[in-house]
Amino acid sequence: MESGNHGQHHEHHHHDFSETETLGGAFFLNLTFTLIEIAGGLWTNSVAIIADALHDAGDSLALGLAWYLQKASGKERDQQFSYGYGRLSLLAALINGMVLLVGSFVIIMHVIPRFFTSQAVDATGMVGLSLLGIAFNGFAFWRNRSSQSLNAKMVNWHLLEDVLGWTIVLIGSIIMHFGDYSWLDPLMALGVTLFILWNVSKSLGRVIKIFLQSNPEDVDLLAIEEELRLLKNVEDIHDVHAWSLDGKYHVLSLHVVINHIIDSETLALLKNQIREHTRKMGIDHATIEVELSSEACLLENC
Ligand SMILES: [Zn+2]
Ligand SMILES: [Zn+2]
Repeated sequence: MESGNHGQHHEHHHHDFSETETLGGAFFLNLTFTLIEIAGGLWTNSVAIIADALHDAGDSLALGLAWYLQKASGKERDQQFSYGYGRLSLLAALINGMVLLVGSFVIIMHVIPRFFTSQAVDATGMVGLSLLGIAFNGFAFWRNRSSQSLNAKMVNWHLLEDVLGWTIVLIGSIIMHFGDYSWLDPLMALGVTLFILWNVSKSLGRVIKIFLQSNPEDVDLLAIEEELRLLKNVEDIHDVHAWSLDGKYHVLSLHVVINHIIDSETLALLKNQIREHTRKMGIDHATIEVELSSEACLLENC
């Protein structure tokens, strides 16, 4: 790895102690609430509460894995993992997605029969639990509201979604409190579970694409080629490959063809220009091979 890029790489995976502490705190808070929900779901006999508990169990698992892996994924590269440990966060997302996928199917299998043989639920208990859910997620949102990082904003959106989900359960349980609408419970459970599945399939799709080394979503290879072809002394650009280490850190390699031997200063300038252009177009780590137009290149279309 080139030294200039190395600094950036380090910055990318640097996390300070306080962030680790925040993650740890959020994990234990979430886990506690998840356990309360599971107990409450069994006590009120409500599948809607259980489905929401699965949702929060997924959040807890994600937080726990992120907390556990944060130190490891920020570790410097070594001989065995020459790109570093950034991909551990992908592995965490994959595990999390699989758990939620299995959990969702288990819940759906319990929810479907409820439509045919209705079971009594403790609507008053459900009102209490959903008020607790709104208070808990609302408090987390309030605590997190001033954070500016992209990640924190994502967390905030998620918390807002959770508040919305609990509000729907609250309204449903108030209705069930006043009349025999017990079919509302499996209906809400189904809604929550389908919402979980929709999010999981989106995130799993993204993770699998990164594992398969697909071109990063925000990198336009053709635009990069076109832009670099306009540079002075460049005859052609080919064998352009890009992939992403963890969805944020993108790696690129390319061949640049020059038509005659240029002096070392001009060559260094050209390489710097290429690196600057590719950095602006989303690349963190570029490897450039220079070749002469008289050379036969075996990798031109590989
Ligand atoms: Zn080539
Ligand atoms: Zn190639």
